[in-house]
Amino acid sequence: MKLKDKVCIVTGSASGIGRAIAAKYVAEGARVAIADLKLDASEATAAELTAKGPGEAFGIAMDVTNEAAVNEGVAAVVSRWGRVDVLVSNAGIQIVHPVEEFPFEDWKRMLSIHLDGAFLTTKACVPHMKTQGGGAIIYMGSVHSHEASPLKSAYVTAKHGLLGLARVVAKEGGPHGIRSNVICPGFVRTPLVDKQIPEQAKALGISEDEVVKKMMLGGTVDTEFTTIDDVAEVALLFAGFETNALTGQSLVVSHGWYMQ
Ligand code: NAD
Repeated sequence: MKLKDKVCIVTGSASGIGRAIAAKYVAEGARVAIADLKLDASEATAAELTAKGPGEAFGIAMDVTNEAAVNEGVAAVVSRWGRVDVLVSNAGIQIVHPVEEFPFEDWKRMLSIHLDGAFLTTKACVPHMKTQGGGAIIYMGSVHSHEASPLKSAYVTAKHGLLGLARVVAKEGGPHGIRSNVICPGFVRTPLVDKQIPEQAKALGISEDEVVKKMMLGGTVDTEFTTIDDVAEVALLFAGFETNALTGQSLVVSHGWYMQ
């Protein structure tokens, strides 16, 4: 088991990619906090993962944009398990509009969930990682950390911003054994993407089939979606990597859509 008894916090892990990462970590023996907006969804996911073992999970309610909620959630994990070895800052949403029509409130909400969330969870976990002599912080970026697409000004801006945060955390954390990385998936068929297909079709005046085949998968080598398991494998690699050799790096996981 690659993460036996490691204490991990995965935000946005009641659904989609975060849930798959939490499941992978529990399967590798970790103790995982499922941190998501609604306590019942977090607890239901935690119960399912614990039943499978061999690790365990527990659910907490955490809105990553709320500093008090983040601090309370991290404190609850430390109180229960005594440390934080791995933070996966994964919670995210998508809102698409042409830039000139992007409501300012939506812009601020996007940046808050993706960037404030990454900042606040990092800020809350780093002191514990320093005290215990190390840890791994993994941000969920996107191909859109490196590439742009129409209608996604807020998302692309936020996902690019995570690269900067990860690099600073890598430099500040290096002397303390704290590593930081960004995972950059291509399109993964989760509720976040399912919601976008009709929205993009409407905004771009094309069919939903064209959105999938041209906009989402047109650039891949195999016209296949990236899977939640593809992403979870990379999250396992970064969580378990023992040295600073990869710190500060992002890794694109996109079936060849974007090649660095
Ligand atoms: P998803 O909608 O399946 O899951 C997102 C989870 O985040 C949900 O459980 C939701 O409740 C939670 N969440 C939303 N706002 C939150 C908040 N303020 N505080 C705490 N939790 C919150 O989406 P997903 O596709 O699994 O996305 C997960 C991450 O992966 C996001 O950061 C997303 O940008 C990124 N990503 C997704 C894709 C994709 O194609 N699906 C590609 C690249 C990157």
